[in-house]
Amino acid sequence: MTERIPLIAGNWKMNLDHLQSIALIQKLAWTLNEKGHDFKDVEVSVFPPFTALRSAQTLIDAEKFELNIGAQDISQHSVGAFTGEISGSMLAKLAVKYVLVGHSERRQYHNETDELVQQKVAACFSANLTPIICVGETQSELESHGPSAVPVRQILAALQGHESLKEFVVAYEPVWAIGTGEVATPEQAEQVAQEIRKAIQEVHGEVAEQVRILYGGSVKSVNVAGFMQGPNIDGVLVGGASLDSDEFAGIARYKKHIVL
Ligand code: PEP
Repeated sequence: MTERIPLIAGNWKMNLDHLQSIALIQKLAWTLNEKGHDFKDVEVSVFPPFTALRSAQTLIDAEKFELNIGAQDISQHSVGAFTGEISGSMLAKLAVKYVLVGHSERRQYHNETDELVQQKVAACFSANLTPIICVGETQSELESHGPSAVPVRQILAALQGHESLKEFVVAYEPVWAIGTGEVATPEQAEQVAQEIRKAIQEVHGEVAEQVRILYGGSVKSVNVAGFMQGPNIDGVLVGGASLDSDEFAGIARYKKHIVL
């Protein structure tokens, strides 16, 4: 029996220095604990800035918190003269479990292409990190191609050409919904998640059933329930609302196990 354990991921973006980050992790862990959160039912992961990863890891180890940490990006290179870059092995040493790859803000402001995203997925696989591959259409792509064409193209491009596929997660994040307060309807999100899973299945076979697909884009504790009901949605990627421990813990309370 295989299960897709829901994942609630908090992308802190370029917010919080390392002291603020550890304060938020502590508060979040306490809040989840108080609410009796069972981490085996719903995994919770936070993605602080690079500068806070070391402090976050130290705190989580010392306090035996069951939270995971993730990184917001990774270099496609493994080592060498790449000023400003952070490699997969550096992240793995800090007990990082997940890496956001191809977030729309990286695609938009750092010109990350499908090809570069594919290379970053490879960098994750070779460092035994789990990429959360972010895909999603802009408003104009939505108008010209409908909701699923771009996310399907992006995920297939990210997965092509690897020697073997290790564990990966997909985050479907319509770009027009990120940080805007606008959300896809749960039905729209489920439909795109279903098409993403179908496309992965057609090209890569049964691995598709085990892949967790998250929805992201202005998720809050008041709207998360609808998304979590979709049979193809296995959690959420949260930006703004993950900076508030009560709000994020409120999002994490949804329990939905997919037993295959
Ligand atoms: C994100 O950055 O991945 C995101 C979904 O942001 P927000 O929740 O703020 O829309």
